[in-house]
Parts: sequence; structure tokens; C-alpha cells
Amino acid sequence: MPENDTTEPAGEVPIETVKVLLPLPVPGPYDYAVPDDIDVPLGSIVCVPLGSREVTGVVWDEGGDDVSRDKLRSILDVKDVPPLTSALRAFVSWVARYNVATESSVLRMILRVPEAYDPLPPLKALRRAAGEPARLTPSRSRVLKIMADGLARLPKEIAFQAGVGASVVKGLLKAGVLEEAILPPRRLLPESDPETIGPELSPDQAEAAAMLSEAVDARTFETIVLEGVTGSGKTEVYFDAIARALTLGCQVLVLLPEIALSTQFLARFEARFGAPPAMWHSDVPRRLRRDVWRGVATGDVRVVVGARSALFLPFENLGMIVVDEEHDGSYKQDDGVCYHARDMAVVRASLEEVPVVLCSATPSLETLVNVEKGRYHHLYLASRHGGAELPEVQAVDMTRAGTERGRWLSPSLVESLKVCLDSGEQALLYLNRRGYAPLTLCRTCGYRLACPNCSAWLVEHRHRGRLQCHHCGIWSPRPKACPQCSDTESLVACGPGVERLAEEVAERFPDSRLEIMASDTLMGPDDVAALIRKIEYGELDILIGTQVAAKGHHFPMLTLVGVVDADLGLDGGDPRAMERTWQLLHQVSGRAGREERPGKVLLQTYEPGHPVMHALVTGDREQFLDREKQGREQAGMPPFGRLAGIVVSGTDEGAVRRLAHDLGNTAPRGRGIDTFGPAPAPLSLLRGRFRWRLLVKADRDVALQNALRAWLEPVRLKGSLRLQVDVDPQSFL
Ligand code: ADP
Ligand code: ZN
Repeated sequence: MPENDTTEPAGEVPIETVKVLLPLPVPGPYDYAVPDDIDVPLGSIVCVPLGSREVTGVVWDEGGDDVSRDKLRSILDVKDVPPLTSALRAFVSWVARYNVATESSVLRMILRVPEAYDPLPPLKALRRAAGEPARLTPSRSRVLKIMADGLARLPKEIAFQAGVGASVVKGLLKAGVLEEAILPPRRLLPESDPETIGPELSPDQAEAAAMLSEAVDARTFETIVLEGVTGSGKTEVYFDAIARALTLGCQVLVLLPEIALSTQFLARFEARFGAPPAMWHSDVPRRLRRDVWRGVATGDVRVVVGARSALFLPFENLGMIVVDEEHDGSYKQDDGVCYHARDMAVVRASLEEVPVVLCSATPSLETLVNVEKGRYHHLYLASRHGGAELPEVQAVDMTRAGTERGRWLSPSLVESLKVCLDSGEQALLYLNRRGYAPLTLCRTCGYRLACPNCSAWLVEHRHRGRLQCHHCGIWSPRPKACPQCSDTESLVACGPGVERLAEEVAERFPDSRLEIMASDTLMGPDDVAALIRKIEYGELDILIGTQVAAKGHHFPMLTLVGVVDADLGLDGGDPRAMERTWQLLHQVSGRAGREERPGKVLLQTYEPGHPVMHALVTGDREQFLDREKQGREQAGMPPFGRLAGIVVSGTDEGAVRRLAHDLGNTAPRGRGIDTFGPAPAPLSLLRGRFRWRLLVKADRDVALQNALRAWLEPVRLKGSLRLQVDVDPQSFL
């Protein structure tokens, strides 16, 4: 919870020493002397000497009495950017404590854009001065003509507009005909306009929107779950609350999964607020990142739409956080500092004392249990906007479907596709597998083509003529002969990926216009936008897509969804496998029949009686979720119990195993806490590193983090060994 350190150091007694936290793997903050002529409120970003280097850090605390000032090195420089707020500093500490990471490593996620710590230099422009040129050449007169309006322009611009060389402009400056003028730096990002009016809300929507606006007005912390079937208008509702926050002069953070693909969302935002939001994700170009980071810190940027890392932006005056698709697995970072952006968004909101809105058509069980316990407030939109019906869902029993060998579409799905296409409507075939085939094997000797760096099969990508590892990215051309027995005609592709499915569809429906939508077939936001436009304009009949096609899009003409392998993702040791599969398939189903034409969904499954299929077909989510909840409660699994995954990895298999066993011997085991393993991870080799896992399981009332720290802090890692701690793990690979 917030440390109450809103008091900046008192003005009268100048601080002589401070502790500076560095975003480097060094123990704790270091003490530095503060030169007399500078002022460093807590949170200031400063330059300090470290060894022979100069590094940037943050003034974290006042210095202790134990170190005398003259023994310390001095701060070199204070950056010209607002200090990190006390709420953000408290957030760093909280994230570090909860996720068993160091404050330094969390701070590193904030201090990622060094260019942003200094203001842009003002632009040196020129304007007309009083002097007259002694000698008037044609070039010079062209310049004078342009500059006659008295406006200041950059020398480059003047030369370009007048069609003259730079020397002509310089000459006129020297002659006193032009003079220097300072232009303020460019206005960075366009501003959103809260005054624009959204669509008229339905009574349900209006009630939810009013509740959100109230929370924004109150400026107190509250977690609000905005649940509603796909297409019920959740986005419209929180747009209203964004407008409210903007009117109050606050900043808003909207977290989206798959942000780089969210072109429809951005277009809607721009239509509503008259300007696109500032974007924050890994593909944003460096210069724009600089502008966004600095704009967020100074308060100039009002709305940021971003991926999970946007949670670590230095908001100056945050008014609300929205986490859209809050159930989405991509909010979990399981690399470096492992954290769950949804959960940390709730923490940040509590420290900033603002509301946080968690949106989903299929909220996670964690969130639903928090609603039940009264920790979160619940808003529900029951119906689709405009009365569109939810699609009818049928299971296709693949054990009896009579699908031909080497084909993946059942006769009934083929028949439905025919009907759909004949009516001039669109279909989505969903298969969450990129490439042509997930496995290539030799019919003669049984050899399977595997990645040399990972315990994974190589996936064939036929378009590119490659076999590729989806974990480390390594690829090779498809071999002509089996690497083991050298047989030349024996390699066969096993199972379908989207490319192979496209092949079948093209064979069956030669006249249809079809396209694949997968993360590796889309080259970037422009590509996505083009594809989406094609679908919207009816220039496409069949879309074959992976998970990226499942999310958020709104396609009015799409009436049929065929889930090619509904069982995919159900096996494996993941306690959330059922919940995830249900969420994803529900989401995919939601793409069908979003407007007047009713939608239909066919789920191809070998287990039509499986609880997940049953829930999707009957639409009885309550029963499904109750069962899930009971199962988790009985097993003490999250959210009823707590887990932490520990992964030991390294290039020396023996050293990894030994460390894993050593850790196993000292692992926390006792009242309300137990450790399973060590055991080789399911992904026992990843990017050339061997991996072993341990899993700590604790009751909710056990101080899990303390136990983890006490256990792991004494561990010294030698050589290539790494230790990854993942509190509330989402992945068990
Ligand atoms: P969700 O976020 O719940 O999936 P959206 O906010 O995307 O739902 O709404 C689905 C579609 O319905 C969008 O095209 C949206 O513009 C439209 N819509 C929702 N509510 C209204 C409304 N009150 N008036 C007009 N259009 C609406
Ligand atoms: Zn690999």
C-alpha cells in the first residue's frame, strides 16, 4: 500500500546526501553527495558517477546519517524532467516485493528512454530583419519574397521553399537581412478532445457509464469489472469514462493485449476523440517513444493506449486505468521481472488512488472470485448492442464425422461453409497453429525433425520453404532426405497448420477469396489494417486465422465460425487449460453474427461431451465456471491457493540439475506451504539452455514472498546458471 511519503524534503534544511536507486544489477541504492547549487526532490532523475562510468538513476531516499558527505561522490547532474511521483516510486517497491524481484530491475522498466530526460532543444529559425541586401541576386529575391510575411522558418525550409542553396540563406543572415528567432519545439502529439459526443447509450450502457464516471470523479481507488458479451458496448462505455477523465484534466491509461494489431480500436478512438491516442508497445519507433514518455511525465500526453509495459510509464496525473480483455494471457510477462500486468494495474491504481476498470466478455476466474468476495465492483451488460443475437453453437463429433484422411474439415462444416458463401456472407476458420504442419516425420525410420536448441518440433512453413522453431526462431530449408536414414521420399507433414488448412479450403472452394491471418503472416499494423478493410468491404470470403483473428474485431458480414480443432490446448499440465480454452473459443465464437444476420459456430471436437464443449454449446457458463471454481478450490489452486514457479536454467545440464536438487533440499515445506519438484521442465531445453522446474504451492494466508526470499536470496549463481521466480505463474512449460 502507499507509503505516505508525499512530503518532499523540506525546503529550509537542504539535503546533503541522498540514496540513488540505479537501474542496474547492483545491491540497493547508493549514497551520493548533493552539490550545494542543485536541488533534488525525491524522485528526481539524476546522473551519477559509478566506477569510471556515468549512470542515470533516481533519487530514492534521503541519505542516512551514517555516511559523511565528504566521503561520497557527488551527483553530476539533474535531468530536466519532472521527478517520478511518490505513487510511482511506491509502485516500484510494491512490484519488486510482490514479484520477488529487485527494485533496480523494476526501475529499469521505467527508465527505458534516456532521450526523454532532456527537453528537445529549441529550434533555431530565421525571420526577416530590418536590413536590406546590398546586392540582390535572383536567388536572394526568392528568399526575400518567401520571408516577406515575417514568419520564422527553419533554414532548411527556407532553402527548400525558395529553391536555393543553404549558402544563400547563410549569406542573408550574415548581411543582417535575416535574423535568428527561437521557435518552440514542435508540438509533440495531437490532443484528444473530450467534448466530442459518442453514440447514444442504451439504458444498461448508460448506467454502467454513469457508474464509471462517478468513480472517475471521486478520484478514489476502486476496481470495477465491466463484463458483457462481445459486442455489448463495453468499449463505448469506457470511452465515456475516458471523456470524463479528460474533462477533469486527468490522464488515462488503456491496456490492450495485441496492441500492434488493434487498428480497429485505434480508428474508433480517433473517431470519438478527434485524435489518435499515444501508443506504447515494442514496435513504436524510438523518437515517438521519447515523445510519449516525456509527454506522459510532463502531463502533455493525456491518453496512452499500450501493452503491459505501459504500466511503467511515469504518469503525472493519472485519472483512470482500463484493462481491456483482462483475462488475456498476454498480460503476463514471464521473462525478466515476471509480473501480471492486470494485477499490477490494480496495484498501481490503488497507489494512485484512482479507479481501474477490468473489461472482458469472459473475465478470469481470479477476477470473478474477487467480485464474489466483494473486493471488486461488478457491472454487467447483458445483451448485444442493437439486439444482435449470440450465435448458435454446435459441436461436431469428429469421431463420427467421417472426415477424409489428410483433410481437416468435416462434411458438416463444409456444408455450412457452402451455405454461408452462397448467401454472400463471410466465414472464419479458426486454427491456433501457425505454418503448414506442426510436425514433420520420416515414414521409413520414424525420425522427427526437432529443434537443436529447444525441446520442440520444427514447424513447417511451406510458403517460405522452411522448417522453423516457434520457440527460438531458428530455421532451415526443408531437407530433401531424412537426416537419419537418408531416405529421400519419406518425409511427411503431420497435422494441420493454417497454411495446410488454406490448401484444403482452396481445393474445396476454388472460387472463394481466402486469406490467412496469423501473427507471422501480418507484417505490421498497415498489413493488419489492409486485411481488416478487405473483410469489412466484403472483398474476402473466408478468413483462416490463429488467435490474432479471435480478438476484438468486429466484422458485420461474418456469420460462420468453424473451429477446426476445438480440443487444441486442453491437454498439458496447466491448471487453467480448460478456462483458457473456453475463453478463447467463446471469444472466437463471438466473431460470428455481430449484426443483423444470425451467426453460427461449429466446434470440431473429439470430445463433444467435454465440459468445455458442453458449456459452449449450451451457453451455460455459470455451471462451467462453478465447476472450475470447485475444482480449483478443492485442489488449493489459484485463486484459492497461491503458486510460484521456479525455473533453473543454464547451458551445463549437470550444473542445472545439481542446483535444482540443492534448491529442492532447502525448499519451503511446512504448514500451508509445499514445494513440488525439482523436475525437468516440459520445455526442458530452450534456446540452448537446459531447464528444471520447482513449483511452490501455498495457502492464501501464507507469506509466500517472504518464504521465497528467505529460500532464494542466499543462492549464488555461477557461470551460465539463471534462476527465474514467477509468482502467480500462468505458464507451466
Ligand atoms: P464490446 O467492447 O463489448 O465488444 P463494442 O463497444 O465494441 O462492444 O460495441 C460493439 C459495436 O456496437 C461497435 O461497433 C459499437 O460502435 C456499437 N455500439 C455499441 N453501443 C452502441 C450504441 N449505444 N450506439 C451505437 N452503436 C453502439
Ligand atoms: Zn528452438
